[in-house]
Amino acid sequence: MTIKLGCIADDFTGATDLASNLVRAGMRAVQAIGVPDGAPPDDADTVVVALKSRTIPAADAVAQSLDALRWLRAHGAEQIYFKYCSTFDSTPAGNIGPVAEALMQALGCPFTIATPAFPDNRRTVFKGHLFVGDVLLNESGMQHHPLTPMTDPNLVRVLQAQCRGRVGLIDHRTVAKGAPAIHERMAELQQAGVSIAIVDALSNDDLVRLGKALAGLPLVTGGSGVAIGLPQNWGMARKRSAEALPAAHGRRAIVSGSCSAATHRQVAAFIAAGGAARALDPLKLDDAVDTALAWAAPRLADGPVLVYSTADAAQVKAVQGRLGAAHAGEMVEAALSRIARGLVDLGARQLLVAGGETSGACVQALAIKQLRIGPHIDPGVPWCHATSAAAPDGLHVALKSGNFGTDDFFMKAFAMLDRPH
Ligand code: ADP
Repeated sequence: MTIKLGCIADDFTGATDLASNLVRAGMRAVQAIGVPDGAPPDDADTVVVALKSRTIPAADAVAQSLDALRWLRAHGAEQIYFKYCSTFDSTPAGNIGPVAEALMQALGCPFTIATPAFPDNRRTVFKGHLFVGDVLLNESGMQHHPLTPMTDPNLVRVLQAQCRGRVGLIDHRTVAKGAPAIHERMAELQQAGVSIAIVDALSNDDLVRLGKALAGLPLVTGGSGVAIGLPQNWGMARKRSAEALPAAHGRRAIVSGSCSAATHRQVAAFIAAGGAARALDPLKLDDAVDTALAWAAPRLADGPVLVYSTADAAQVKAVQGRLGAAHAGEMVEAALSRIARGLVDLGARQLLVAGGETSGACVQALAIKQLRIGPHIDPGVPWCHATSAAAPDGLHVALKSGNFGTDDFFMKAFAMLDRPH
């Protein structure tokens, strides 16, 4: 069997977020870490190729994305989905515009759409302006992002600065009228020389109407929200079997390198509930991996163990002052990923990882190349199943980016695996 929808994501946890939305809309999804070597699994409707191309030089992002495109097309993809962040994270040099235009050229596709709208996570687009919750993008905190500061909420202007072709708008009044009106507007814009249209969307209903209008378009670009309206174009509807994973087994462990507010609350809730937890001190990492594993070994049989470097802003600042922010991050990621590997070697087969960068490091340490996407624990965070040299019998893993998840996320996640789906 060949895949129907081929996806290219510009970062790792964003790929999981997209795959999770596709699974919830009825597709069986697999996430590949980088461009795969072999063929996709027989029963996958979609493959999301996870790149790390958001902030690398535009030419490299284009080359990697074209590589992914070749693989996806070789395995039958009928439509390509280029996924970026729901806060449109990019610089004036790209990489959203250059990658979208390179994919259009390679596909011979003269027109596509772009929208980061994801109402379930409070990202909406109105008259081309991106809102994060109740405020415009440039007042959401994103204006201070260290790598991709977003200072203009007008996405037509932002995308135009990155594109050679003309950028236009399909506004909410057109979207509200449904697929035929959206089609008509797409044709009109194309006639007027526009090659990419930002699309307004305020609700899931808007995204479903948009999805219908996108049937047959060779390329779609967006955050993960557009995905909720696409699987029905192949006659797929939400069904439990799309999210089925093998039965869980083995020990339970959590590794947390996220210092985000939500993770703080999750770590505190786990400890308050009596969970076995051990903090990692970034200034004392010398034999930290061995001591953490020696601590964990006798406890794993009794329930989940948590190893964490999660700390408050003052503690992080103090560590960064001593080690430098980048060096501290690398050291902690290296230690936590070795601990994750060690925990799996000790029999952990249900592993939660908190932190986007931390997840990347752990997946690498575990030599995971492919993840089967299962049911979500909270929006954007599904349980996944992987096989790797570290766990040839299979491993359940959930990768939580910093601010996702309710306070009881850790307990809730394991409880889900107790129930058959
Ligand atoms: P999030 O998804 O919350 O942003 P990430 O894992 O992406 O989490 O990023 C957290 C970064 O902070 C990682 O590079 C991690 O190694 C680093 N880090 C974790 N704990 C500490 C700490 N106590 N002091 C300094 N840096 C830390």
